[in-house]
Amino acid sequence: MNTKEALCRIGENHFSTWIKTHAKVWEEFSDKQQVFCLCGKLATGLHERICRRFNAAVTKETLVRLKHLLLTNKTNKRRTSDENNTRTSRRGVSKTKKLEG
Ligand SMILES: [Zn+2]
Repeated sequence: MNTKEALCRIGENHFSTWIKTHAKVWEEFSDKQQVFCLCGKLATGLHERICRRFNAAVTKETLVRLKHLLLTNKTNKRRTSDENNTRTSRRGVSKTKKLEG
């Protein structure tokens, strides 16, 4: 499962958890970088909101913290052809542009 698929899954099944954890990680990362952002620019609140690099790092860390959700979720499903079924069996969930970056 690549990052995008993992994001999709968490977004569909644990959206509120994702939002909460993402916000928390965002705050933590923002606190950590006092002066400069990951990209080398001044880490103002505004910059952090729009910085791709910063937000990518936040997303990555959020994913790491929510990995267990994916694992537990997977045990409830059929082991075979799981990947192929997910796309068609899912109900249309509102798209989240935020997660796609
Ligand atoms: Zn930046």
